[in-house]
Amino acid sequence: MGRSCPAPFPSLGRPPIFPPAMLKVTRVAPDSLGAELGLQAGTELLTVNGRELEDFLDWEFLTADDAFLLHARLPDGEEIEYDIERPEGLPMGVGVEPPRIRRCANRCDFCFVDGLPQGLRENLYIRDDDYRLSFKYGNFATLTNLKPRDVERIIEYRLSPLYVSVHATDPVVRRWLLRNPLAPDILEQLRRFAGHGLQFHTQVVMSPGVNDGPVLERTLADLWAFGSSVLSVSVVPVGLTTFSKHHLVREPTRDECRAALGLLEAAARRSRAERGISWALGADELYLRADLPLPPPEWYDGFEQVENGVGSVRFLQQRIRDAGEGMADWRGRRIGVCTGASMAGLMPQVLTPLAERTGARFELLALPNSLFGETVTCAGLLPGRAFQDALAGRPDLDLALIPGEALNDDHVFVDDLALADLAAAVPVEVRASYCFTDALDTPPRP
Ligand code: SF4
Repeated sequence: MGRSCPAPFPSLGRPPIFPPAMLKVTRVAPDSLGAELGLQAGTELLTVNGRELEDFLDWEFLTADDAFLLHARLPDGEEIEYDIERPEGLPMGVGVEPPRIRRCANRCDFCFVDGLPQGLRENLYIRDDDYRLSFKYGNFATLTNLKPRDVERIIEYRLSPLYVSVHATDPVVRRWLLRNPLAPDILEQLRRFAGHGLQFHTQVVMSPGVNDGPVLERTLADLWAFGSSVLSVSVVPVGLTTFSKHHLVREPTRDECRAALGLLEAAARRSRAERGISWALGADELYLRADLPLPPPEWYDGFEQVENGVGSVRFLQQRIRDAGEGMADWRGRRIGVCTGASMAGLMPQVLTPLAERTGARFELLALPNSLFGETVTCAGLLPGRAFQDALAGRPDLDLALIPGEALNDDHVFVDDLALADLAAAVPVEVRASYCFTDALDTPPRP
């Protein structure tokens, strides 16, 4: 309970059973309103306008007004109530602790967590499914673990667009895919949110024989019926590792990928004619498995789902074109580009314009995944040792580029090798990169 709310058991004179919610400050930017008020790391934010703060969403939304009351407890225990009038344009500049991640209520056969080998760091085994991260970072959420209070918050704070894993709009098929007999009807959920003006980017992870074919056709039709509330739908082929439940799920064949692309392209043609956007998009991986060429960059509607592997190649090509003079002169240099086997087939389309821009010679190093098995071909899951093995005998390279997606926020690979340790172990300069232009803007080390 917040300080300005009545205590839950006032007549008993006891403390509440649960400690009151509060949010800890982790950092305060200099020259911000937070610094001016004397907030500091360790300050406990108790209430805003009398409302308790559960997580960063409460903090960001309740302090968005020009004027509000903040009740806080400083690290020395002093409690202060601030009556804040925010000068125009002055940010609060207060970072708060990350939320406790919401656990997933499903058990999909294709779940990445089931495909992990034993012995990795603990947090990799967490199945997260969190609408807050969907709004903040574009993580896809199934919305199967929402409590009534979460639904209220989504509506009150207008968390839009949300990134939603739909998979199938047929509730029976969806429950089967999620292995969750209690999964609510996704159409009803989306309808309720859409009624409050919220919008969604949606995805279908395609499990062949389950949610492709007529089920996919129905899913596309149902989502199309939402009009502008559904901003996009992507189809991503299911990806498995050596450790996945292969007796329950398999990867799609070339023809199954082609059939899915056929449905997507029919939906996209209609959308282009009626709404001027493609709307229905296939992941690069789907085109690769279908052995079909990628669509042009304008097909991807501003690359809203690029983080989901939808339009990555075209996006990179565009970044390289746009970088102009922003990249250093790499003439005569030799650069190794490390990636997973899946991107290797598409990478020449990116490296050719990159070589023209920079003058460098690029060598593609398509690395097998020594941790998850050779069926895992995406760059983001390559372990640090795979890079180390590939680069150990390569003093001939002037630079090696490592995919940024293979590192976590602490610059550590999935097998716990740190980027700094990799750099110290190999005879070539190593840089992490998300889009090439971010790593080639400064000249090579002398
Ligand atoms: S929704 Fe499915 S794939 Fe995602 S974390 Fe949960 S079980 Fe895994």
